[in-house]
This record gives sequence, C-alpha cells and structure tokens, in this order.
Amino acid sequence: MKTMIFQIDQLVRPNVAALKPYSSARDEFEDFDADMVFIDANENPNETDVNRYPDPQQRKVKEVLAKQQDTDVKNILLGNGSDEVLDLLYRAFCEPASDNVITLPPTYGMYKVLAAINNVENREVLLSPDFQPRVKDILGAADERTKLLFLCSPNNPTGNSFSEDLVAELLEQFAGLVVIDEAYIDFSGRESWLKRLSDYPNLVITQTLSKAYGMAGIRLGICYASEEIIAVLNKIKPPYNVNELTQQRAWKRLLESGKVGVEIGEIKEQKTRLYTELQQVDYVAEVYPSDANFILARVDDAGKRYDQLISQGIVARNRTTQPLCENCLRFTVGTAEENEKLIRVLRELK
Ligand SMILES: *Cc1c(COP(=O)(O)O)cnc(C)c1O
Repeated sequence: MKTMIFQIDQLVRPNVAALKPYSSARDEFEDFDADMVFIDANENPNETDVNRYPDPQQRKVKEVLAKQQDTDVKNILLGNGSDEVLDLLYRAFCEPASDNVITLPPTYGMYKVLAAINNVENREVLLSPDFQPRVKDILGAADERTKLLFLCSPNNPTGNSFSEDLVAELLEQFAGLVVIDEAYIDFSGRESWLKRLSDYPNLVITQTLSKAYGMAGIRLGICYASEEIIAVLNKIKPPYNVNELTQQRAWKRLLESGKVGVEIGEIKEQKTRLYTELQQVDYVAEVYPSDANFILARVDDAGKRYDQLISQGIVARNRTTQPLCENCLRFTVGTAEENEKLIRVLRELK
C-alpha cells in the first residue's frame, strides 16, 4: 500500500513531542456520575446547570460518534469548530518559519489564514481546470519540510468532490499528513474516507456539525485519525476546548440523525431545482455541479450581480478574486421560499 515508511514521531514538532500536557482537575478524576463531593476545581457548588467544568474528553459525544461512524473513541478529537482542529494540526506538526504546508486553491480560506497566523509557508498548487488535484505538481512542490497537505472534498467554493484515485495516490505518495476536510460530506453521495483510516496512517479527516447538522452556532468540529495522531493533538488542545452547552446540544442533535437525514434530503432536492433554474438565467454562463449544499455559478459580471442581489435583500458570496473563479458567485441552498426568491430576483435583473 504505502510506498514509504510513515513515522509520526518524525513529523511532530520536537517541543510538542517533549511537552508534558496540563493536567486539569477533571483529567485527574474522571468519574462524573459517581456520587462524590467535588472540591477539586474551585467551582461554585450551587447548581446552575453549567457550574461544573465540562468533560475535557467529551466522552458522551464521542461515544455516539464512534458508534454511528463505526470507529473508536481513540480515533476522535473534538474541537471548537473544525477551525480549531485545523489550527491544532498546524501547532502540532509545523515548526514556524521553517516547515511548510500545501493547499490547492481555489479552496477554503482558513488553511491559508492559519498558515499565516502560525508563520508557516503555504505552498499553493492550483487545482486543474476541472477542479481536481494535480498530483504530480503537488508531489513536486513537497520537500522534507512539508508537513500537511489540505484536500477539501467536496471542495469549497467549487462544490465538486475529488477523484478517489487521485486522493489515494496522494495518500500513498505524500510523506506528510493528508488532511481531508469533509465539511460537506453529508450532502455528497460518496463515502467518507473514514472507512480507510486503518489503511493510511497519514490520513486525517475533519468534519463539522456546522453545515448538514445545522449547528454552526455551537461550534463543534470533529477530527478522525490514527490513535497516535489523536494523542498528539490531545496533548496540545486547551483542556476545556468544547464547552458544556455545546456538548449537550451536539449529543442531542446526533441522536436525531433521522431528522437530520430528512433535512439533508430536502436540501439536496432544493439544490437540484436551483441548479436547473440557474442554468436558465441568461447572464449565467456556467453552473458547476455540486456535491455540497451550495452552487458555484459563473455570471457575466460578478461584482455587478452581487450588488444587485444585495439591493434586493439577498447576500450571496462573491468568489471572483479566487483563482479559476473569475466572475463566480456562490449560492448556499436555502429554504424552498428563499430559493424561489433568489430565482425570481435573478430572472428579473437587467
Ligand atoms: C464551513 C467549513 C468548515 C467549517 O468550519 P467550522 O469551524 O467547523 O464551522 C470547514 N471546512 C470547510 C471547507 C468549510 O467550508
């Protein structure tokens, strides 16, 4: 399978490998349900529902996820949004001012911002004109200091999934960690790469409750990876990075997976309708197929159409400054009424 021997110890920053993590009161004594007197964390003992520190390992949420995804709690790390997970990956593996990462524009903007925040060089290798990774160019851009490769699939803002063969080639030949951002996987007909975790020791998958699960406001990001990689990230995460209210709401929502499935089905139906309608607007030059809950469309003049939409009370996302996205607008699939309004307004624009 993998052509090179992958060794996690050689990727971790030396200071992270050496550090002894902070041990919180709740780390040292974990048994929450026991009938004990808790005077170990300087909390106010009066009940407010949230007077206690939250579980630093979010076990209840992880147990549901592990069961639903057929994986193990040891392969899961949760963060304050997947943005925190991505930041932890930089901080664990990329030595500032010396290591580098590879990103594939046009893609999610946070990879680049996090590289800048962490003072890590970002090597950009454009996607091909059909928005697929160029494997040869990516491997050519990598050197012994390249720690992370970010693959966003389905990709934001283009909406397409990456070819499984190309992703597999990268997993086999790239010597650092391959981070597959699956923020939109629940809208896609494809399987998550999670099923392949045991095949690829350098595979890291991120998911989120922000999109399909309708919980952007609680901030819950998920990372799946080998036990070794998760252990490294656990060492450096803030002890109470996922708050109590978030853990409670996430747990409840995960148990409503039937309801979530119905909503996803509706959004996908609406997407198909929006796709057909967009193709019929005369100044829309191209509508790109989407495995996500948004559609990228090329118009005659993105700036002009964006402003016109705003004046009609509709906020789309103008992606025209992104490479390969000249004059492109990104439309999130809304409710049936919202989509109807969008179509009506788009048709009436002069
Ligand atoms: C929206 C989005 C996320 C979500 O980030 P959270 O911090 O979990 O809300 C992650 N990756 C991509 C590509 C996204 O579009």
